[in-house]
Amino acid sequence: MNKQIVPKVILHEHVEGSITPFMAKKLADKNHLPFPQSLCYQPGQYDKNEYKNGRYQYDETDFVQFIQTYDTVSNFVKTPEDYYLITYDFLSRNAKQGLIYCELFLSPYHICATHTDNQVIWDQQRFHQTLKQMDKAIIDVQKEHNITVRYHVIGVRHLGVDVVYDTLQFIENNPHPFITGFNIAGNEKAGHFDDFEKAHQLASKLNLKKSYHAGEIDCAESIIQALKHGADRIGHGIRAIEDQKLIDELVSKKITLEIALTSNRILVNELHGDIHNHPVRQLYDKGVPITLNTDDAGIFGTDIEKEYHLAQSIFNFTRLELLDITLCGIDAAFVEDAEKMRLTDLALSFFTENDKHCLQLAINNHQYHPAIIERFIKYQNRLLVLVNE
Ligand SMILES: [Zn+2]
Repeated sequence: MNKQIVPKVILHEHVEGSITPFMAKKLADKNHLPFPQSLCYQPGQYDKNEYKNGRYQYDETDFVQFIQTYDTVSNFVKTPEDYYLITYDFLSRNAKQGLIYCELFLSPYHICATHTDNQVIWDQQRFHQTLKQMDKAIIDVQKEHNITVRYHVIGVRHLGVDVVYDTLQFIENNPHPFITGFNIAGNEKAGHFDDFEKAHQLASKLNLKKSYHAGEIDCAESIIQALKHGADRIGHGIRAIEDQKLIDELVSKKITLEIALTSNRILVNELHGDIHNHPVRQLYDKGVPITLNTDDAGIFGTDIEKEYHLAQSIFNFTRLELLDITLCGIDAAFVEDAEKMRLTDLALSFFTENDKHCLQLAINNHQYHPAIIERFIKYQNRLLVLVNE
């Protein structure tokens, strides 16, 4: 891999949200489904350089339109083989942009559950076939790129407490070695984290690490509640900026926020549609470990390169800071320690002589938050070990 690029990590991408307009058309044609003209902008109506894989047509200020687009697109996915196509498409595209590690979110409820007479039926065979196709896609991407992937199982909170618990029970009976995370997603305002007590406990019993969506649509208090129930990481969490005491806790406990700049601009009302209002710079400067994520890459018309570029061009993150963000992502990854070590060393191998010089200057000048300096010293020590090996 080219040493000049910044290696990248995604800790937050919903697999069905990764479907680009081009892929959606491909799936619709394959499954003989009508493709509404109004779903996407026509050629000439959008900037092809910015939206290389087409652009969905929805009013970015209208949450309902966004959800409708998401649902329409998800409904094009019909077979386990379709999951191969979307997983391969997303991972290969982002791996070309330097993605070395990715956590993909999948919802067993959407993959394999059906309703009959108030009862949810889980189709085990369909689940296994789907996972097999996703695994195959990962293996095929790995033939060309050095990338590691893990999965989160999603509990959709607005489907209710029982469905979330049943989802985890289904995973208890159908474990998969790549499923390392449990995630609570969906409408943040549906229910309270307290309501999901049984699910929090079962996730712990299954040794699944927890990342909960909080502080995106709801306020800082939702993050406090997620932490109370054992969240190891927070999905988005940007409203932590409203509460300095909470920020101190995130820093001292090294709780990583999965920031998604494009997604947040569109979905977080408090930003008023203007990315310049995003608190990513303040959160980083205050010492909170952050990562950059795509969330629903296809629906939002983004990719990991775009997200890193936004951080650099709008929030003036330096190359050293972007490398730090990637290393924070690896440190917070839901992956076994040996793989974490390997990924850390891989990311450190991208440090140029100039990066090492900048690292030394940053440590000497103490212009960063002590938590950041502590990380920088750790990188420097490891770089010294690697040079001598
Ligand atoms: Zn999400």
